[in-house]
Amino acid sequence: MNTTNVPFLDLVAQQDEIADEVLPVWQRQFASAGFVGGPEVDAFEREYAEYIGVGHVIGVSNGTDALELAYRAAGVGPGDEVIMPANTFIATAEAASRIGAVPVFIDVDDEYLLMDPDAVEAAITLRTRAIVPVHLFGQTAPVEQIAPIAEKNDLVLIEDAAQSQGASSAAGRAGSLGRFAATSFYPGKNLGAAGDAGAVMTDDSGAAALIRNLAAHGSSVKYVHDNIGMNARLDAVQATVLRAKLRRLDTWNAARRAAAARYGELLADVDGVRTPSVRPGNKDVWHLYVVRVAERDRVMAELSAAGIGVGIHYPTIVPLTEAYASLGYRPGQFPVAEAAAGCILSLPMFPHLTQEQQIEVATCLTRLTRVRRK
Ligand SMILES: *Cc1c(COP(=O)(O)O)cnc(C)c1O
Repeated sequence: MNTTNVPFLDLVAQQDEIADEVLPVWQRQFASAGFVGGPEVDAFEREYAEYIGVGHVIGVSNGTDALELAYRAAGVGPGDEVIMPANTFIATAEAASRIGAVPVFIDVDDEYLLMDPDAVEAAITLRTRAIVPVHLFGQTAPVEQIAPIAEKNDLVLIEDAAQSQGASSAAGRAGSLGRFAATSFYPGKNLGAAGDAGAVMTDDSGAAALIRNLAAHGSSVKYVHDNIGMNARLDAVQATVLRAKLRRLDTWNAARRAAAARYGELLADVDGVRTPSVRPGNKDVWHLYVVRVAERDRVMAELSAAGIGVGIHYPTIVPLTEAYASLGYRPGQFPVAEAAAGCILSLPMFPHLTQEQQIEVATCLTRLTRVRRK
């Protein structure tokens, strides 16, 4: 098969758009050696808080640290259980394990592959402390159904909003729906830095102060240490990029939505390709465009060979990874998430993806799903 290359993700076009804004600020920062914290970090935190509609944004080092800080601020500690979906990026669980808490995994629903609200209640024990819906692939998890369960059982709702910058549901914007939310600005996210970065969101002023303290070695006044914290600060170089990209986020997310609609049309009648659906009331920001196909590994290999960038998010659900073998989960416990892991395929998706590139992808995928080799 002869095709032109379609990358899975092209960040260079984003960098080109913001270069004129970012480079002069970077030059000033370099000259003045103002690298950690400072006015760009403060301004970004204010602007992002306004964008999300939360009282406080604490800019931090990355999404995993953001989750750990949110868990700690929520009072999650050693031996506490944190309920989360089986298909997420491992960081959702890792951040809990790092503080001695225990991730408790539940299945997802087959339609949207998001945390199944019906599975939450059965997972609650006397040790449960928090519930973590993950707004996976760019759309908001059913928080309106999960929040009442959290409330009834006196559990803290913490959103993993790493894949959902700008997404919303009928209940409001992702990142503003729980007591805490954590997000990642890893370069490939919808709002990405030029390296690692993240943020914690909350309306609780006291908790915001604690998170800020914990993220700076447990210190609010230099060399006065109130807590055993961590080094998880956001630096000025990243905040500068994030400010410039935040101004374009809605435009870029709209471009992703248009691209998703186009994929939907191009692939609507293709046998063997199941296109993703959007939960009613959700505004999806399409961090990833995930189809389900039969013979996924063959289709994926042939797409790659044809120069089309594809991925799997994620090939092994977190409870069945080697890292979590000690928790003793077994295949068969998460029927929906496990079945999905065997057939999901993420197609190229980024704001600057062109119609021609999408036609290329769809044509190739259509041809490949027609050729069944047994
Ligand atoms: C990216 C991501 C994280 C972790 O963010 P890092 O900045 O890479 O530490 C956490 N959860 C989800 C769902 C993610 O996609």
